[in-house]
Amino acid sequence: MGGETFEIATFKSSYPKLSAHPVGQWIPNIYKDRISIFTSGGQYETKNLRAMLSDGSASGTPHIKLSVWDAPDLSRPTFKDATNHKFKPASVGEWFGPSWSTHWFKVQITVPHELLEKELLELHWDANNEGMVWTEDGNPLQGLTGGGERVEWILPEKFRDGKEHMIYIEMACNGMFGNAPGGDSIQPPDPNKYFQLSKADIVAVNVEARHLYIDMWEIGDAAREFPTDSWEQHKAMKVANDVIDAFELGSQDSILKGRKIAQEYLGKHASSAKVYDSGTEPIVYGVGHCHIDTCWLWPWAETKRKVARSWSNQCDLMDRYPEHIFTCSQAQQYKWLKQYYPYVFDRVKAKVKKGTFQPVGGSWVEHDTNMPSGESLVRQFVYGQRFFESNFGERCKTFWLPDTFGYSSQLPQLCRLAGMTRFFTQKLSWNNINKFPHTTFNWVSLDGSQVICHMAPAETYTAEANFGDVRRSVTQHKSMDQDNTSLLVFGKGDGGGGPTWEHLEKLRRCRGMSDTVGLLPRVHLGEGVEDFFDRLEKKASNGLDFVTWYGELYFELHRGTYTTQANNKRNNRKSEIMLHDIEQLAALASIKSDFKYPKKEIDDMWEGVLLCQFHDCLPGSSIEMCYDDSDELYAKVFKTGEKILKDLSSFLGVQEVTTLSPRENLVAFNTMPWHRREIISTGNNQAGVACGEGNLLNIKTFKISETPEVTVNEVRSGVFVLQNEQLTVEVEGGSIRSLYDRKADREIVAKGGKANQLVIFDDKPLYWQAWDVEAYHLDSRKELSSGPTKISQSDAHQVSVVTETKISEKSWIKTYISLSAAFKGQQSYVEMHSEVEWQESMKFLKVEFPVDVRNTEASYETQFGIVRRPTHYNTTWDMAKFEVCCHKFADLSEHGYGVSILNDSKYGFATCGNLMRLSLLRAPKAPDAHADMGRHHIRWAILPHQGELGSTTVRTAYNFNNPLKLVQCQESVTPATFSNPIKLTGNPSLILDTIKRGEDDEDVSRGELSKGKGKSVILRVYDSLGGTSKGTIETTLDVKKAWKTNILEDDEEELKIEKGKLGITLRPFEVATFRLQL
Ligand SMILES: [Zn+2]
Repeated sequence: MGGETFEIATFKSSYPKLSAHPVGQWIPNIYKDRISIFTSGGQYETKNLRAMLSDGSASGTPHIKLSVWDAPDLSRPTFKDATNHKFKPASVGEWFGPSWSTHWFKVQITVPHELLEKELLELHWDANNEGMVWTEDGNPLQGLTGGGERVEWILPEKFRDGKEHMIYIEMACNGMFGNAPGGDSIQPPDPNKYFQLSKADIVAVNVEARHLYIDMWEIGDAAREFPTDSWEQHKAMKVANDVIDAFELGSQDSILKGRKIAQEYLGKHASSAKVYDSGTEPIVYGVGHCHIDTCWLWPWAETKRKVARSWSNQCDLMDRYPEHIFTCSQAQQYKWLKQYYPYVFDRVKAKVKKGTFQPVGGSWVEHDTNMPSGESLVRQFVYGQRFFESNFGERCKTFWLPDTFGYSSQLPQLCRLAGMTRFFTQKLSWNNINKFPHTTFNWVSLDGSQVICHMAPAETYTAEANFGDVRRSVTQHKSMDQDNTSLLVFGKGDGGGGPTWEHLEKLRRCRGMSDTVGLLPRVHLGEGVEDFFDRLEKKASNGLDFVTWYGELYFELHRGTYTTQANNKRNNRKSEIMLHDIEQLAALASIKSDFKYPKKEIDDMWEGVLLCQFHDCLPGSSIEMCYDDSDELYAKVFKTGEKILKDLSSFLGVQEVTTLSPRENLVAFNTMPWHRREIISTGNNQAGVACGEGNLLNIKTFKISETPEVTVNEVRSGVFVLQNEQLTVEVEGGSIRSLYDRKADREIVAKGGKANQLVIFDDKPLYWQAWDVEAYHLDSRKELSSGPTKISQSDAHQVSVVTETKISEKSWIKTYISLSAAFKGQQSYVEMHSEVEWQESMKFLKVEFPVDVRNTEASYETQFGIVRRPTHYNTTWDMAKFEVCCHKFADLSEHGYGVSILNDSKYGFATCGNLMRLSLLRAPKAPDAHADMGRHHIRWAILPHQGELGSTTVRTAYNFNNPLKLVQCQESVTPATFSNPIKLTGNPSLILDTIKRGEDDEDVSRGELSKGKGKSVILRVYDSLGGTSKGTIETTLDVKKAWKTNILEDDEEELKIEKGKLGITLRPFEVATFRLQL
């Protein structure tokens, strides 16, 4: 080595040797705040970006000429009617009202010369209430929300001719949440609100400035919301401040420069649909939606208009934003649109065909799922899916129910039976005790059926499509071990009209940001709900095991909704029973004869009942106007039903018994599909024993034996004993101090306890009055003390005592406790009937039954089955169920013995230890100031039973809700003629719940879907107790073929029927539908 020479490189740097000036580090919060100030109102709005959003405007005559016609008496006239009236001049600044009134404006628009060439011209209209823009010839175009929200309507190209053009605006005097006084939207509406028309301007929009505004909104959010230890947060702050530094008021160049700078953060395509074509893998799928409550803080009539406004908006947005997919549920809303707004319906239909407007949900309305009967839940899907199929050619695959107050454990099974494998919801994020642990999971029914359930992790179904919503789609995602994708359901609900152009622009920026700097979850638009679930199902079929949740999705809030608006709930129960009877009788009549199955009337009745099961109607959370509406609708349902029943009675050859009728040929009218033996009063203190099977039961005279079969005695002063063969009931002070089962030789009332004791609680929940009852109400328990008890009935067949209890100066309750003669081999029960005058404020009335039975779980009837819930408060999950939903009965049983409490119209119950408690009445004052005030009639019963909960309870509860009716038959008619041609024998846990005609039978169908040949009968059978059950359908009808079908009545499996017998086996809690083809 050696001898080599190296040239030594001299390091030359241009880096200045001396510091030129001091440079400070940014103070983050100050530079962050500066970003907001750049786009906000206030002292700088004439100097910041806002000042450049418009490029000129015009208002007043001659450019905007206004005239108005005020619709009289709060009416909502049609376009044709309204525009036939004389309009009077109107101007900006005038007030319109009162609440709920409608005002039609003629708006004559002449674009001023200097604006004719501007890029984008809009009409800005704001009266702080909802409106609809109509063409001059009567086509509804777009909704307006008011109050700064959705105030723009884009002027059509043809308006740029310098001539006068005309539109109409239909103004509705309500805001998007009705007419609440002040800021508390759940207070009863103020009937006297007035609305000022504050703006009616032609505005030339500076489109680039508007784009920069959205750019800055999103980059500003990144600067504010990304973690401060991320480079992406610092970069956002830098880019935003660079944009502000570049801005010069009045300089369009500076706007363009700002947009260029913003691209450093958002990428090149952040203001176009192209942004979604980057080919990168998204994980958040945005879907536009508009949650329109079918009634709530406004009546149905307003909902019809909200639907038309909102969905027109969406059709319009789709034309401008090709990535926009909008999804909406509720067949009833589509039907209204078809009836009242055919122009909009056709627009929607065209978009459905294109795939951008996507019907979802498969149900008639977004209904409550706690209280409707099993058959009602079935019909929600039958009527929903049939509407979607007949109008759009396709059924829905996803059950969509973001906003309801708890989810029945049988929903997954019914979804599957209605052709739906997926379920979307959200409300459980409102739980105020425990956090629900999953985002995407398999939800499993009582019978084992499952659906994939997804709850959007952004925890809203009305997202504003904010940066934060996109972020939360990952930060709040609880199922990322299995799958990290999620839905982001965005768009203003109710009167807000769904997604806005701002939402769509913001999401474009979000996607651009994810692809440019990252960190934000990558959001995608252009795919629908079904695409999202298709991917999940595919992952599952490739071996991805989603976690499971078995049984009900109990909602830990809104527990008052099982009780509020008692009358409405009673009407629900009664109408369900009436429809059951009509369908059964009409099915059999129409098969045996040429009796015309009244399909149209039945459809109208069902659609009414299903509508009233909407998630703010049946639960009792709507304003008074909505209950006026539902009362009227139920009255119509009952009127139609009575008429059909009358026709059916004359077909059966029976008639009602009047006081004048001779007491001859009396029979008991029955619609329960099993043997019954009951005492039936035949008037004048006389009674008979109705016994048999079928629709008409023979009545035998009640034999009065030497030792009376039921007695009542005042054994000591104020102490009464009612007794029959099986039970001894001791009543003192209005409550039952002892209920002794003579056969089982055991006391039923807990030691020292008082059964049938009325109690009252203070009921002031944290906020949602009609909705909520909070655990602390239990601490305010007060026993009501009764007045004297009297014997009110002492007949050979039945005895009763009556007690009147004062609740307050204005309210009272009169309770009859009755015991009937017992039949050998049939469990006797104690029956209560009460009449209540209820004029309370924020109180909760209940009746208690402390029983000598011990179990850590109680059972509650639910749709097609039973739910077991804890009777203890071990964990917060157990405690949260301090008030739960039941149907016709609740039961507490231990090994060998139990007690069931039956009811005829109630849904709220609690079992705490051995204390059973039936909820009777509440008195919330918001949103209906008069909820539940007035007179109520309620029946309930205590049914003790040997053995555990069994078919005795299930069937007695049915019978209790379907009392036999005394009728008179023509001499020629013998009850045997009317023995049921269809019977179900076998395991007594099997219930033949529904008998009806096939929807598409040629003599029944109304033609919405293709007809089937011949006549068929549909039978719905379920296992009521949770065990594999075998039975036989026996029929005397000439059945050609028999099928097991789904609830939509699609044939699935052909079954063998031999000599009129069809053997069936059901899974525990299975709901099975059979179609007998005649
Ligand atoms: Zn809702």
